[in-house]
Amino acid sequence: MRTLAIDIGGSKFSMAVFEGGRMTLRESRETDKEGGRDWMLEQIIPLARSWRDEAAFDRCGIGFGGPVRYPEQRIALSTHVGGWRDFPLAAYIETKLGVPAIMDNDANVGALGEGLHGAGKSLSPFFYMTLSTGIGGGILDNGAIWRGADSYGGEIGHLTIRPDGPECLCGARGCFERMCCGLWLERDHGKPARELLEDPAFVDQYVVDLALGLKACIMLLNPARMAIGGGIGKAGERLFVPLRAELRRQITAWSGARIDVVPAALGDDSVLWGALALAEAL
Ligand SMILES: [Zn+2]
Repeated sequence: MRTLAIDIGGSKFSMAVFEGGRMTLRESRETDKEGGRDWMLEQIIPLARSWRDEAAFDRCGIGFGGPVRYPEQRIALSTHVGGWRDFPLAAYIETKLGVPAIMDNDANVGALGEGLHGAGKSLSPFFYMTLSTGIGGGILDNGAIWRGADSYGGEIGHLTIRPDGPECLCGARGCFERMCCGLWLERDHGKPARELLEDPAFVDQYVVDLALGLKACIMLLNPARMAIGGGIGKAGERLFVPLRAELRRQITAWSGARIDVVPAALGDDSVLWGALALAEAL
């Protein structure tokens, strides 16, 4: 059985082919934000067709960087790239590639990947956060994605952490994503997140907001572990050591909830592995 996995993010997209449980092909490209949906589909379909010719795949799993209405298999919207609102991406892929396809938002799919193959193995509940261009969250309960009543569970990017903070792309003020994601770090401070996080003084101030968002997850879910994926999650111990200390400071004194927060174990491939797991249910 071969599976095509697609990870559509805000600043890049990745595709892979799995043969059984082994990744045999992989490619990652920068996203042309101006090109929107049409540009993206013009990249994905020809690449998938060229792969299909050398290694025919039987099914496709997709992680999309924005809210997805899971039962209808439609993208709700992307706040970062234009043209995706209400788009039935799984049905489109099925028509263009001739294989069954299934999608969910990338944080849910990343949670599945990390939960089954990475940092969350055998741990429940497991919380996965993608911290890159934007912020998304995925909750895994005994290996199953917890989507909530309307597929919008885990959307921590728009928790309010600074009610008087600056306006977010969603229209509210001081959202977790507005205060902590890569897109806004660069806009607010004039440097990419990677550079900013090399400065310990910046990190000490950044982890206060980061911990405010993660504290909400700990108080609500008491997760066995939380893993952070995406570009900023790769900052390593210079981010995670102060982050754990700040969480310890912020978490309500009587709470015995563990503070187990680690980088994603699968690096850039959490969503691809999750897309494989999602497609295995087809
Ligand atoms: Zn928001």
